[in-house]
Amino acid sequence: MYDIAIIGAGINGCSVAHAMSQAKKSVILFDMGGIASGGSGAAGAFISPKFSKSGELKELIHDAFVYSMDFYEKNFPHLLTKAPLLHIAQDDEDAKILQAYKKESLLPLKTPPQEIVKNLVPHAKMQESICLEGGVVNAKAMCEALSKSAECIQEKVESLVYDDGMWIINETYSAKEVVLATGAYETLIQEPYIQLRGIWGHRIDIKTTTQNPCSIHQFVSIAPSSEGVLAIGATHNVHYHPQTSKEPYDINEGRAELLEKASRTLNLQNIEILRDYTGLRSGSFDYMPLIGGLVLSSETLSYGDIKFKTKKPNHEAYTYYPNLTMINGNGGYGFVLAPYLAKILSEHILSGKKISERLTPARFFARWAKKLS
Ligand SMILES: Cc1cc2nc3c(=O)[nH]c(=O)nc-3n(C[C@H](O)[C@H](O)[C@H](O)COP(=O)(O)OP(=O)(O)OC[C@H]3O[C@@H](n4cnc5c(N)ncnc54)[C@H](O)[C@@H]3O)c2cc1C
Repeated sequence: MYDIAIIGAGINGCSVAHAMSQAKKSVILFDMGGIASGGSGAAGAFISPKFSKSGELKELIHDAFVYSMDFYEKNFPHLLTKAPLLHIAQDDEDAKILQAYKKESLLPLKTPPQEIVKNLVPHAKMQESICLEGGVVNAKAMCEALSKSAECIQEKVESLVYDDGMWIINETYSAKEVVLATGAYETLIQEPYIQLRGIWGHRIDIKTTTQNPCSIHQFVSIAPSSEGVLAIGATHNVHYHPQTSKEPYDINEGRAELLEKASRTLNLQNIEILRDYTGLRSGSFDYMPLIGGLVLSSETLSYGDIKFKTKKPNHEAYTYYPNLTMINGNGGYGFVLAPYLAKILSEHILSGKKISERLTPARFFARWAKKLS
């Protein structure tokens, strides 16, 4: 029997596998397509804070950015490329946000390097911008490195049964704890209040004679990948979904969109498209990630003494699945958030440390149950 079974070997599942292995727990990690075969394998894996108006998501991503840059640098320096990150405003509204960000930024700001500025198109040069130290990680290799100490099984998990104090997976494997890290691909436990949407994204690696040693973010991100290759990404395609769309995804249309958006920022010369990466990122309806235990809705609803129509729901009164948690809904910041969220989740599993109610899936149960009652 394993201490922990993790289902899904994207950056979330692999980060939890690493945290648990560090705590000397035995870990079995399942993925139906192999490590980083979902959204994580498609990611450009740019590590950046969120440049937006103040709010809890911006703050969470700020904390995760600081934590994760340090985590990657300390543990996997060979898989992290640190590079200046130049964020250019898309429009006047965005410019105001950047001006406010600069005034209150807790991160040290830099002067944009001249060798980058000279390649920008004139309009991009004139826009408000902000420059700080960011990074890019090698997405697949990072997931592989994080999961090195776990037993990795390429298999789809179709059955999950709790019996006699342990979880039985696919009628074969057993574990004391289960962590669901299935991204936007599958819902193993059907609970009506858990609703995640999968947003399709496309990014490309290109060869170009244009030199760009830094990460530029404007309409898309343009960043050095390796050996003179630039990574451009990603699209946010809400109309296509691999499981529900009738028409196949139009890769040429996606490439054209990426190159057109990149060309509004940078003069790219002699372009050769080397590779395409596509996948789903999973987002929640309030944009915050979901980590923690899952409320057993049928049982919780059946208790007559819980008040659901209240402004301050008592999450502790709910009944939860035993020894089962989830980590999901990282949106476009999976590689920024995952190490930080995995730390929070593993502390919760190992020592019962409370997770903020703004992050737990129970917040969605509370809203759903309130509407029902
Ligand atoms: C094109 C693109 C570009 C992106 N760029 C960035 C970026 O620059 N920076 C950044 O931080 N984030 C980026 N993201 C977002 C980031 O990739 C996601 O937030 C992150 O990958 C989510 O990780 P995850 O582990 O939750 O999900 P996933 O990586 O999707 O992993 C879930 C895994 O679960 C497996 N699975 C599901 N159900 C089962 C089952 N029943 N049995 C077995 N296996 C199962 C799937 O096969 C999959 O591999 C990008 C996303 C896309 C699509």
